[in-house]
Amino acid sequence: MERYVKISKKDFYKWVDSLKKHGKVYAPKRKENTHVFRPIKDSSELDLNYISTILPPKKYYFPQKESLLKFSIKPFETAKAIQKFEEFVLFGVHTCDLAGIQCMDVVFREDPLDPNYINRKDRMTTVGIECLKPCDKHASCVSMGNHVPRGGYDIMLTEIKGSYIIHLNSQKGEDILQGHSYIKKCTQADRNLLDSLRKNKERVFKEEFIGQLTEVYTVFSKLSESGVWDDVGKRCVGCGNCTTVCPTCYCFDVKDELDLNLNDGLRYRWWNSCQMDDFARVAGGEDFRPGRVSRQRHRYYRKFKYPIDKFNRYFCTGCGRCSRTCMAKINLTETVNDLIKEHRNVSIGI
Ligand code: SF4
Ligand code: SF4
Repeated sequence: MERYVKISKKDFYKWVDSLKKHGKVYAPKRKENTHVFRPIKDSSELDLNYISTILPPKKYYFPQKESLLKFSIKPFETAKAIQKFEEFVLFGVHTCDLAGIQCMDVVFREDPLDPNYINRKDRMTTVGIECLKPCDKHASCVSMGNHVPRGGYDIMLTEIKGSYIIHLNSQKGEDILQGHSYIKKCTQADRNLLDSLRKNKERVFKEEFIGQLTEVYTVFSKLSESGVWDDVGKRCVGCGNCTTVCPTCYCFDVKDELDLNLNDGLRYRWWNSCQMDDFARVAGGEDFRPGRVSRQRHRYYRKFKYPIDKFNRYFCTGCGRCSRTCMAKINLTETVNDLIKEHRNVSIGI
C-alpha cells in the first residue's frame, strides 16, 4: 500500500465503524463541556474536535489500577500472574499525546522490560489526528516540538478540504486500511495541500517559551536553587492532579490486598505521584523530598532535565494538562519562562 492515502469525509465514518473488527475502539467523546477517551460503539459517539482530554489515553496502555497476581497463604501457592491483554484501537490521538506514548515506550522497554505494558502496547493500534489549531493558553506543544506529527502512530489523519489524508506508518496501520475500496491513493496535488497546510501551521502556532529547548536545558542545569521553586512550592497544595493527568508520569506503587478470609489475596499496582508527601519517605521515617518546594522542583526536573540526561528526550509533551488542572493555578509555561528570565538576568549581572 502507498505511504499516503486518503478518505473522503463521507466515507470516513463508515471506515471508523469497520474498526471494531480490530478490537475495542477507544476514542475522544464529548462529556459535558469537555472530552474524555472512552470505548465507542460506533462513529456517532466520536468527536475529533477536542482540546486535550482530562486524562491522557495512557489509562489504556498503563491502567490506573492493574491486577498483577493472585496468591494464597495456606497452603502457600506460588502466585499466578494475571494476564489479560486484548487487541484494541486507540483512535484520534493528538500529536502531543503521541509524544507521551513514545516517552512511556522508552521507559517501559528499558531493561528490565515491563511485560504488562509491552503486552498491552503491542496489541494497540494507534490512530493519530493532526491538530490544526492550538488547544488553549495552557499548551506548550510548539516549544516542545509536538504540534506536528513526529511518529509514535500506526496511521496519522490530517483533515484537508473534505477529506482526511492518511500517513501510513506501520503494518498495523496497513491492516486497518486494507480492503476498503473508498480509500484512495493520494495525488501530487493532495501532497502539495498537505505541505501548504503544514507551512500555514507555522503562522497559526506560536512558540510558548521565550527561549529554545537548549536554553531551557541550560536553565534547569543551573537554577536548582532559584526562588521560582519557592514560589511554586508555596502555592502548591499537594493534590497530585498535575502528575495524574500527565501523559509521561509513570510512577506506580505495588500493594498486596488480603481478602476477608485473610488467606487469599491480590497484588496490584496503581498510579502514584511524587507530589504525595509520603512518596519519598523510607523506613526509619527519613524523607528525601520533604516539603512541596522540593517536590514541585522534582516534578519539573523529571520533565526538563533528568530524562534528557538519561534518554536524550524531554518528558514534557506540552499538552498543558498540568496547568489546566492545577487548583493553585501553577502554570508550566510561566514557570519555565520565569526561570529563563532569571537565568538571563543573572547572565547579564542584573
Ligand atoms: S496540581 Fe497544582 S496544586 Fe496540585 S500538586 Fe500539582 S502543582 Fe500542586
Ligand atoms: S508536564 Fe504538564 S504539559 Fe508537560 S506533559 Fe505533563 S501534563 Fe503535559
